[in-house]
Amino acid sequence: MPIHEVSLIRPENLKTHEKLVMDGVDVSGHWSTFIESRVVTDYNEKLEEEIAALPGGEHIHRCWQCGSCTNSCTVNAVNPDFNPRYWIYLIRIGMDSELLRDKDIIWQCVSCNKCTYACPRDVFPEGVMKATAHWLELQGHTPKSKSTQFDEEFSAQVLATGKIEEGRIIRGFFARTGQPLMQEWLVEMGKRLARKLPVLMGLRMGLAAVWRPRTRRWGKTSEAIAAYVGEQDAKHRKALGLAGHDQERTHG
Ligand code: SF4
Ligand code: SF4
Repeated sequence: MPIHEVSLIRPENLKTHEKLVMDGVDVSGHWSTFIESRVVTDYNEKLEEEIAALPGGEHIHRCWQCGSCTNSCTVNAVNPDFNPRYWIYLIRIGMDSELLRDKDIIWQCVSCNKCTYACPRDVFPEGVMKATAHWLELQGHTPKSKSTQFDEEFSAQVLATGKIEEGRIIRGFFARTGQPLMQEWLVEMGKRLARKLPVLMGLRMGLAAVWRPRTRRWGKTSEAIAAYVGEQDAKHRKALGLAGHDQERTHG
């Protein structure tokens, strides 16, 4: 499969004359196409450093642009604009304005890690995609993704009880993302589960949904985890030069 390149030529910079005759030769239409020159002055020299400071982005400096990540990428196979190699290139040369043109698709990485296994330089492109999506959120270029909101709900419940109860996680996630609880797929899944589930297990799950089980003596562990998460958030914000890096964590 060929590597799909993204053109650095913006469509608005392509100029074509509908009607142009030069030295008696008709060069109308695409024959007269030229590219308006563009001077890039907005390099962000800290971009690579900022991505490297976020979890997953640590090894971005190792990339030698072979393209194996893009070539093996699950999402690229259905959307050629999804191009990890190209985004790593942009990050390394500090072209954040170009990167922002693709800000609405970078989060689409499905974490299949095919790129991770294909990369000859142990860059962990999947991690770089996650770090880049995280960077976009922290810098306010994109709203919190559903994946981030799920992580926050999950973490909040672990911190509160030291346990995970799937039904409660789904309800909390739907509430955070403004989704209705009664969704067709969920109802169908519930019905199928009810048909197959042993009665005792079903009872246990029902009880857990109402009565919230907790890990015994969880308080100190929860405090330690919360403090660590807070430290990490502050560290990431500081690396990005964001205000509030001295404040407590933002997880719900
Ligand atoms: S982990 Fe993400 S970037 Fe890597 S191959 Fe899968 S979809 Fe593509
Ligand atoms: S496979 Fe690894 S070294 Fe090759 S372009 Fe992708 S990240 Fe860079």
